[in-house]
Amino acid sequence: MSGGWHRCIQWKADAFGELYVLARSSNMAGVTYDIAIIGGGPAGATAAILLARRGRSVVVCEKEEFPRFKIGESLLPHSLRTLDELGVRGQLDAHALVKHGGEIATACGGRIRRFYFDEAIQLRDRTAFQVERAWFDRMMLDRAVECGAEVRQPCAVERCDFDDEGATLATSGGEIRARYVLDCSGRNAVLGQQFDLRRRYDHLQKFSVFAHYEGVQRDSGRDAALTRLIRGSRHWFWMIPLDDRRTSIGMVCDIADFRAARKTPVQMLDDAIAASSLMAGRMVGARRITEVHPVGDYSYRNTRFHGPRWLLAGDAAGFIDPIFSTGVFLAIHSGEKAAHALDGALRRPWTRLLRFPMYSRGLGRLMNRYLRFVSAWYSEGFVDVFTAPRPPFRIPQAVNSVLGGNVHPNFSVWWRLQIFYLVLRMQRRRENVSGFDRPAGDSLAGAEAR
Ligand SMILES: Cc1cc2nc3c(=O)[nH]c(=O)nc-3n(C[C@H](O)[C@H](O)[C@H](O)COP(=O)(O)OP(=O)(O)OC[C@H]3O[C@@H](n4cnc5c(N)ncnc54)[C@H](O)[C@@H]3O)c2cc1C
Repeated sequence: MSGGWHRCIQWKADAFGELYVLARSSNMAGVTYDIAIIGGGPAGATAAILLARRGRSVVVCEKEEFPRFKIGESLLPHSLRTLDELGVRGQLDAHALVKHGGEIATACGGRIRRFYFDEAIQLRDRTAFQVERAWFDRMMLDRAVECGAEVRQPCAVERCDFDDEGATLATSGGEIRARYVLDCSGRNAVLGQQFDLRRRYDHLQKFSVFAHYEGVQRDSGRDAALTRLIRGSRHWFWMIPLDDRRTSIGMVCDIADFRAARKTPVQMLDDAIAASSLMAGRMVGARRITEVHPVGDYSYRNTRFHGPRWLLAGDAAGFIDPIFSTGVFLAIHSGEKAAHALDGALRRPWTRLLRFPMYSRGLGRLMNRYLRFVSAWYSEGFVDVFTAPRPPFRIPQAVNSVLGGNVHPNFSVWWRLQIFYLVLRMQRRRENVSGFDRPAGDSLAGAEAR
């Protein structure tokens, strides 16, 4: 064969090969996005809005059609600045209830303390919102579309395969190719499960039952929209007003107590309400308007929050406990920080070596802070200190500041927190310290006895 023929055949073979590779890659992946986000809850929507606004090509895969029922309705003041930046504050002002603070009470109603965000030490924003999540999540995701993100819904991500250039996501709607993946899949934790990163908190093996009600009694004025936490000796309740009519009510107990009680979730919730004089009193004439949702074993953290081509945000990174309504705050906060880290990595790829570990460290530190509070809540002393008639040194106002989402407490908050932890430690040793007496709460055992 002459050299000419040989070169011609060789060229055709090469061209054919190239075409095959191109065709295969376009069949497999189509467009390569800058970022693929798994999950369109608050974490995913926050990141999608910020990244799309910076001109990044973003695809959000959300496995459910919105609106859908979701728990987690009480927001924290610190999220307000981000919600402003996302351009959704106007919608919240128009449609959501303004929350001024909360109330902690013992289940028998013997001791009650209200706390208002405007009394907290060093808290920038003085109010927050109570939202119906079906509405809130859809509004956030609509905003992401408005800002230029592509939202695929329903579209479940089944698996992500990573390589040097990015990731290929296997979804219920076909394959998607992206340079980076941000996992915001909530407690489904797609990457956490795929890489076996999830670790439970042994001391937080809890079970929760919740539903929406109409006709729950409220106070008037700004107290009408407070979050109410009612603490029994082995369980606690939340009451979160959603609008003029509806209230979210839930109960949390040890998962072992739920198993030992051998009751259905509905019975568990009804009996616990009936056994608490405070709850029962507020719910005279109330009517349940949704089904009762049970959820158990929800507290965990992943051992890592990043890899070379991926980050975890919101519940997909970890979930501590519902007690202080930190879930959506952490979701929005980490969605925002993850968006900054990813945008920086897309601008200068080598910076991801610094940005991703910094992101993980920051989120881990914040989670540790709230974990400490949550663990304190489940020790008896927390409610004692909070509901004491004259708590010294304005300790509740300092605790309130951090619980409002103050991510950088100053010295005046810090030293009060140290005293707070010291009192709790002493309380654990001796039953009663400096006049903080223990709350008398109704127990689940009491509920069963009735
Ligand atoms: C009992 C209870 C009470 C709570 N109360 C509060 C409260 O009062 N205030 C508060 O701030 N927080 C509360 N939380 C926590 C709050 O619900 C979560 O922290 C918050 O929703 C986290 O937001 P996210 O965006 O990380 O995840 P999510 O809101 O869970 O969103 C994740 C999204 O990912 C989607 N998804 C999951 N898997 C896939 C997949 N494979 N492919 C594609 N999409 C997927 C889901 O459909 C979902 O829409 C509570 C939690 C519990 C369990």
